[in-house]
Amino acid sequence: MIHRDQLLKIIEEITMVIGTNKQFLTDLDQAIGDGDHGINLDRGFRAIKDKVEAVKDRDCGTILKTVAMGLISTVGGASGPLYGTAFMKAGQVVANKMEISPEDAVKIMDEAIQGIMARGKAAQGDKTMLDALIPAHEALKASVESGEALISAIAKAVEAAEGGVAFTKTIAAKKGRANYLGDRSIGHQDPGATSSYLMLKAISDVLV
Ligand code: ADP
Ligand code: MG
Ligand code: MG
Repeated sequence: MIHRDQLLKIIEEITMVIGTNKQFLTDLDQAIGDGDHGINLDRGFRAIKDKVEAVKDRDCGTILKTVAMGLISTVGGASGPLYGTAFMKAGQVVANKMEISPEDAVKIMDEAIQGIMARGKAAQGDKTMLDALIPAHEALKASVESGEALISAIAKAVEAAEGGVAFTKTIAAKKGRANYLGDRSIGHQDPGATSSYLMLKAISDVLV
């Protein structure tokens, strides 16, 4: 189980990790996009701090919805509405709940991915955040269904996401700004896949 207070710590950790990797993510986006991914996300996560603080005694759904609305209104770019949708869908899974079960965690990732796909019309292999998130979800689901503890299931998901990020280096972008580069995007890892990996890693680091 992930208790509400751990969820708050996870959000803080994600904010910190995005801050630490702001330049790295921006450099990755400089290579194949417009060089703002780290700046966008850092601005968004710093902006949600006070908003989350104001709902810290509420349920997990309300907290995640607050993150979602904050990201949507401040991140901008392609990734703002996509991550916003992901957190919004996540919040709906745990509406009125004070903790997140392993099954909820699997459902959260599933719904988040469906939301991103519905909004951005990308698929696995298009060199986007989905290339980290989809394998992570598959690993998480398989581990939870086989009865593994949530901590180790999430660790597997992080590993799978890392593999997904590496895979984005090998393919050409079919969505987002990197798509304009065509085959010239090959050899570069996708910034959004990288930020998704970093967020999953932050979750894992808080839980261990
Ligand atoms: P922008 O490209 O508008 O400057 P960001 O730089 O913040 O936005 O985010 C870029 C990232 O967004 C990409 O690296 C990619 O992972 C992700 N992305 C872009 N378009 C899509 C899409 N249609 N579906 C999923 N992810 C996408
Ligand atoms: Mg960009
Ligand atoms: Mg931009």
